[in-house]
Amino acid sequence: MSRFFSRNFAALTPYTPGEQPQDKQYVKLNTNESPFPPSAKAQQAAAEAAASLQLYPDPTCRAIREKLAALYGLTADEVVVTNGSDEVLNFAFMAFCDNGAIFPDITYGFYRVFADLYRIPCEEIPLKADFSIDIADYKGRKETVFIANPNAPTGIPLTVAEIEEIVTSNPDRVVVVDEAYVDFGGESCASLVKKYDNLLVTGTFSKSRSMAGARLGFGFACPALIADLETLRYSTNPYNINRLTMAAGLGQLADEEETRRNCQAIMENREYTVAELKKIGFSVLPSAANFVFAANPHIGGKELYLRLKEKGILVRHFDKPRLKEYNRITIGSREQMEALLTAVKEILEDDFQ
Ligand SMILES: *Cc1c(COP(=O)(O)O)cnc(C)c1O
Repeated sequence: MSRFFSRNFAALTPYTPGEQPQDKQYVKLNTNESPFPPSAKAQQAAAEAAASLQLYPDPTCRAIREKLAALYGLTADEVVVTNGSDEVLNFAFMAFCDNGAIFPDITYGFYRVFADLYRIPCEEIPLKADFSIDIADYKGRKETVFIANPNAPTGIPLTVAEIEEIVTSNPDRVVVVDEAYVDFGGESCASLVKKYDNLLVTGTFSKSRSMAGARLGFGFACPALIADLETLRYSTNPYNINRLTMAAGLGQLADEEETRRNCQAIMENREYTVAELKKIGFSVLPSAANFVFAANPHIGGKELYLRLKEKGILVRHFDKPRLKEYNRITIGSREQMEALLTAVKEILEDDFQ
């Protein structure tokens, strides 16, 4: 830290992204990216947009907001688009947390970073013993609620009915539902934003839409909440979505069938991987996401992570009390999952000889 760094931020612990190693090619199952490239329409649209990079992008992002609205049965004034969904979450912490924030103790690590960044008092509510969320903990609260649905890194979903209970029991507080993984078998709450003025649903192109490298996220809420988020967007970076990303995003949305096919393939690979992992002794949490959270009684989580890395396979290990026996394994292509399963079997066999 330099001697010039603001005291406001000196104590911050920043978010730690998953490794993006550049030393060699790994089978990369550690950051929940899609194994599939973006749609050809997205690639072509981005290439064409490159010819106009001398011009600023449309700060209203109208075309993509209208397209998202049409796809989800909303109107454009119920949609905000952001530089990854991390940015809409950032704005939500800035905008709606004067009374503090609550979220599960095991969830997306960025919530805590944002809360600390804005000095928002927060309570991290323990998950139940089976790693599920007890919705009773989130009803009738004085704080703003953040829930990833499905949750990460567990993959466990809540139903729309359960989310609706949380929303109706907190009529004077915003409830933020982070649907980064909803397209892999969860139920979206998007349509509920027409019914409740205290619900913000966030989503991303990074996982199901194969565009993690483009940084494109979105938020759905009633027009008044969206207007608040727009005030913050225009106060930080009105050109938050660059031309290439905007064009690619529109191209991707023109190919929803391909997105659905890709998600279907991931879900099939997930069911296959879960079954195979269970055959060799793993306990695997019931995931509705593009990853599984798995532990094996014969090998520690960290050791398995390290041994897999030696074999060129990256998974995500969290060195925290309730998580350290587990690894979060992204579901990739069938070939990637076969490579993982082969490597895991070799590691377990080595240990039993
Ligand atoms: C990946 C992820 C996000 C955000 O990703 P972006 O790439 O910024 O859109 C948000 N929430 C959860 C739970 C995630 O896993």
